[in-house]
Amino acid sequence: MKGEPFKSPIPKNINFISMFYLKKTPGFVAKLFKDRVWKIDTNEKILYLTFDDGPNPEATSFVLNELKKVNAEATFFCVGKNVKENFSLYERIISEGHKVGNHTYSHLNGWKTDDKIFLKDVEKAAKIIDSHLFRPPYGKITKFQLKAISGKRLNLKTIMWDVLSGDFDPSVDGENCYLNVVNNAKPGSIIVLHDSAKAFTTLQYALPKVLEYFLEKGFEFRVLPDFNS
Ligand SMILES: [Zn+2]
Repeated sequence: MKGEPFKSPIPKNINFISMFYLKKTPGFVAKLFKDRVWKIDTNEKILYLTFDDGPNPEATSFVLNELKKVNAEATFFCVGKNVKENFSLYERIISEGHKVGNHTYSHLNGWKTDDKIFLKDVEKAAKIIDSHLFRPPYGKITKFQLKAISGKRLNLKTIMWDVLSGDFDPSVDGENCYLNVVNNAKPGSIIVLHDSAKAFTTLQYALPKVLEYFLEKGFEFRVLPDFNS
């Protein structure tokens, strides 16, 4: 057969994986799910860094050191079993002025988990993580589960995000992770990063640059408020 070889209209280097999630939560999504927190309403130059999936010996120590250097605060959504395994790191997070949140005990996906099992897992985590903040793993929680954990017993407020760094995605490099954050964060933004082994290489590059970029612009990094008081 003669003629031009077939050329795909899609460039080879296009990043398919990162097309499956959004770096910025669209406004209509946040309006649709008012039972969870997506960002903090403020015009002040304040940002809320959040780190999911730790504590992890390498990654969490790195994050704490970087935050300390520039006097920045953050909120750590901890996985219960990681707290159990790395309890001194968990204590260090708190003693250095940061906040902790519940990210279930076993990192369960609420959409794929039986309600009873999911709620038990959150409760198990609540026994060692002293917090009224909750972030569902993968951002996935059903309305029923959310209502159950927000009740008097656990009294947990569900915290989502408006900026996803992509640090967990092996096809997003450090520079692109940094750009995802600086291009999308605004006053009051809740930014997701991960203090996990998986994200560590990307985080090592991106976190110091994110901190430097916003501190130069006069931003402050604070812990999330309590919401319950
Ligand atoms: Zn997670």
